[in-house]
Amino acid sequence: MNTIKILLIIIAVYLSFSCAKAAQIVYPKTNNVTINSDVTFFIGNENPDNELYINDEKVELHKSGGFYHVVNLKQGINTFIIKNGKEEPLKYTITRAAQTPAKYSEQKYKAFSSPILYITKKDNAPLRNAPNDSGTSRLQNFSSGIPLEAIGESGKFYKIQLAQDDYAWIDKNYLTPAKDNDNNPARILSYDFEESETCIKHNIKLNKKVPYVISEKRTFDLINSKYEPNAQGLDVTLYNVENYAENKFDIQMNTTQNLFGYKTYFDNDTTFRVEVNKIPKTQQHSLKGIKITLDPGHGGDEYGAIGCLGDKEKDINLAIALKAKNILEKSGATVYITRSDDSYVDLYDRVKFSQNMNSDIFISIHANALPDSLAKTYRSGTSTYYFCPQSAQLARIMLETLTKELGTKNDKVHQESFAVIRNHESIAVLLEIAYMINPEDSANLRNPEFQNKAATAILHGLERYINELNK
Ligand SMILES: [Zn+2]
Repeated sequence: MNTIKILLIIIAVYLSFSCAKAAQIVYPKTNNVTINSDVTFFIGNENPDNELYINDEKVELHKSGGFYHVVNLKQGINTFIIKNGKEEPLKYTITRAAQTPAKYSEQKYKAFSSPILYITKKDNAPLRNAPNDSGTSRLQNFSSGIPLEAIGESGKFYKIQLAQDDYAWIDKNYLTPAKDNDNNPARILSYDFEESETCIKHNIKLNKKVPYVISEKRTFDLINSKYEPNAQGLDVTLYNVENYAENKFDIQMNTTQNLFGYKTYFDNDTTFRVEVNKIPKTQQHSLKGIKITLDPGHGGDEYGAIGCLGDKEKDINLAIALKAKNILEKSGATVYITRSDDSYVDLYDRVKFSQNMNSDIFISIHANALPDSLAKTYRSGTSTYYFCPQSAQLARIMLETLTKELGTKNDKVHQESFAVIRNHESIAVLLEIAYMINPEDSANLRNPEFQNKAATAILHGLERYINELNK
């Protein structure tokens, strides 16, 4: 009996030694992958006392053991031998498929012999200025029940006539035929506005729903001798309204201060309301009364990026967000969070949650990675993202505050059509605190002290933002 036990132990010890391999590779996620790029990277970790080589090229090891090593890919099969001179070398094969020419299926436009009336059948129906799904083609997000007159089609899109010379496009999946084809212009029954402590509310009473387009009036502020985008006021156009030139009812809602969120919706079916938020008058360095939704990115089966040392982005995002929640609440803010544990939350549900909570500010927290093709850009540090011009100011202040307080590299402010920040009428930004795939950044991101600093920087950024708004 005992002999067998000892024998088993010897076998187990032998196996564990013979299985010890050079380095832990985090990316590429598995061996034998196909990557269609002329360049990619190996990300992972190795005992920092060892020397690591990939195809005889020395890999730079961070003191934490993390590494980021760029390799070129030729067409066909690429073999990589990873060795540390001590353990069994690892062999990786990456296949780069032959370049297939991009398929251009040009969609033909077909005009209808007579217009057809549709109505939007679900919320978040994007009206576009071109028949494509790109983020920049978005004009307006409709709720359900908005009538739209189609005059033709191109692929999966209908062409919509809004006014004599105003056209737009919408994906057919968002529409259903109207009960009757009657598209007579609507009538305005009354128009007034009321002022409360928190907003100015415009009420336009119509006899039926009409399509509309709201655009923020983009302005530019001269800051540090650079013109930075911002927004003051709204341009509101209601279409298909009788007694106005081209059946267009235009309201210019000018504000002397920067926009701080707004809300547009049909109430009681046919009353169109526009609520323009007032800038909250808070004491210096206080967020009292401000409603903030924090959104830790990813969760559940969706890990996000994987760090050099094997950390999952979803866990780091959550750790920073929970610390920020605590700190913000202490400063008087009302804080909501889209997830407080490791659960999966759909992107649109995150936005809806923030809207239902009536939050003033939405902050999505992430840690960054790069696609294969950008491997050689060696980006690192903090970047921030906004979609609507009114949110650019917060994105800029957050970038300044985070890079200064964390000592991270400035990886710039970007305007991007990310699902969690584009469908808001409130202030919405996305923060990429640092890069999971950069050895220095990833060692920082897993450090609770760094996470605390990031959470504190989020508080300081918000305080600076509210103070600047009140200037
Ligand atoms: Zn992410």
